[in-house]
Amino acid sequence: MTLKSNIMKHQLIIVGGGPAGYTAAEAAGAAGLSVLLIEKNNIGGVCLNEGCIPTKTLLYSAKIHDNAKHASKYAVQTSDVSFDLPKMVARKNKVVRKLVLGIKNKLSACNVTTLIGEAIIVDKNTVCVDDKLYQCDNLLLCTGSETVIPPINGIEDVDFWTHRDALDAKELPSSLTIIGGGVIGMEFASYFNSLGTKVTVIEMMDEILTGMDRELSAYLRQEYAKRGVQFYLESKVTSLMQNEEGIHVGYEKDETTSSISSEKLLICVGRRPVMNDNGIKQLHLEQTARGHIVVNEQMQSSLSGVYVCGDLTGHSLLAHTAVREAEVAVHAILGKEDKMSYLAIPGVVYTNPEFAGVGQTEETLQSKGIAYSTVNIPMAYSGRFVAENEGVNGYCKLHISDDNRILGAHVLGNPASEIITLAGMAIECQMTVADFRKIVVPHPTVGEIFREAL
Ligand SMILES: Cc1cc2nc3c(=O)[nH]c(=O)nc-3n(C[C@H](O)[C@H](O)[C@H](O)COP(=O)(O)OP(=O)(O)OC[C@H]3O[C@@H](n4cnc5c(N)ncnc54)[C@H](O)[C@@H]3O)c2cc1C
Repeated sequence: MTLKSNIMKHQLIIVGGGPAGYTAAEAAGAAGLSVLLIEKNNIGGVCLNEGCIPTKTLLYSAKIHDNAKHASKYAVQTSDVSFDLPKMVARKNKVVRKLVLGIKNKLSACNVTTLIGEAIIVDKNTVCVDDKLYQCDNLLLCTGSETVIPPINGIEDVDFWTHRDALDAKELPSSLTIIGGGVIGMEFASYFNSLGTKVTVIEMMDEILTGMDRELSAYLRQEYAKRGVQFYLESKVTSLMQNEEGIHVGYEKDETTSSISSEKLLICVGRRPVMNDNGIKQLHLEQTARGHIVVNEQMQSSLSGVYVCGDLTGHSLLAHTAVREAEVAVHAILGKEDKMSYLAIPGVVYTNPEFAGVGQTEETLQSKGIAYSTVNIPMAYSGRFVAENEGVNGYCKLHISDDNRILGAHVLGNPASEIITLAGMAIECQMTVADFRKIVVPHPTVGEIFREAL
């Protein structure tokens, strides 16, 4: 490789233009730092281009379709409800384009220099893109994560989908097997089930949605089972085979091998940090056992001047965590006091109904030996929920410490994604039940459920 010698120096180089990278770039640029943001694909990263936003856009179309189909529950008559999948996908692409453009405009307004190209880290102060060297005082790594493709027997001969293919599918498969009952797997199960595909979910663990409240995960699974989704739990996929009849998935359960067949197969078994072939490994940063990069509360790695944010840290693999981490990193670079807290990171599954949780689960409390009491009430305690959810059950569960602080909150029912922030604020601010009850919540809202529970 011959390196061109016009070395450009910036105060901050950011590698990766996803939520971590673009948030940091905007914040650092707005604060007056000279910032170079390097992105090898599309600004917006996984979140905007192939993750959070496209999934939620398609899921919203599916929800409108569901609502139209079941409108008679609310005394509204509809007939011939149908959908146009290519138009749904086109709308999804339009939403993505609009939001990506918004980020690009913000970056320019903050005087960030954006470079499209693949960055190779040379050392902690030098990055190479297309044979050109760029130097920096501080380096921020935000290269994110990528889909794990498990080494299942026969996988190389099978035409499987990842989430990217599923997002762009313009023809509805008659049947779909999803390997992995985590958040991504369940959101796609919900989407394709709503549109009429026969969906099967195979999960290795004994419950879907590992890490979320187990009891509510089971309720959600039972709800989708009623709608026709088939679940195989504690089932390990061992082989794949494809012929003209479809894709055949062999799996082991209780030491017995069985097989299921479907037209399409979607693999959603997890994500791994992006750090191969980009020079990050050569920095020899301290890593966790699972291969993520270790950072302190200021998002600084084991090498001074090198900061890491987003999925690469492996803290939660969520965009909102990445965004907050990015702000903390920029504050550290600017010498402003700040630190990252993972006390109240909300996790949401955008199924219909939505399922959200923040703070501790029963399992984490028990494993940490923290004393707690639990309040579990039906969502029917909220008048607004009853008005808008005919014939639908939901639950709100709160864990309270011995000194009356809220430790964890878990909600199954719409709009869990919106109301969970209330509980998240209470947990992050370490509010007591008495503090929380002093907050006046508008009536009627589903968020009143927390006051009802306390
Ligand atoms: C299907 C799906 C749905 C999701 N839904 C949600 C959701 O609803 N809510 C939520 O919070 N999270 C969701 N996520 C997770 C979310 O997308 C990630 O947590 C988030 O994108 C992480 O942000 P990041 O900035 O760390 O990395 P990324 O968004 O992965 O961005 C990293 C960027 O770095 C670039 N890059 C990598 N290497 C280099 C290099 N050498 N040079 C230049 N550029 C490079 C990549 O091209 C990429 O654009 C979802 C993920 C998926 C896959």
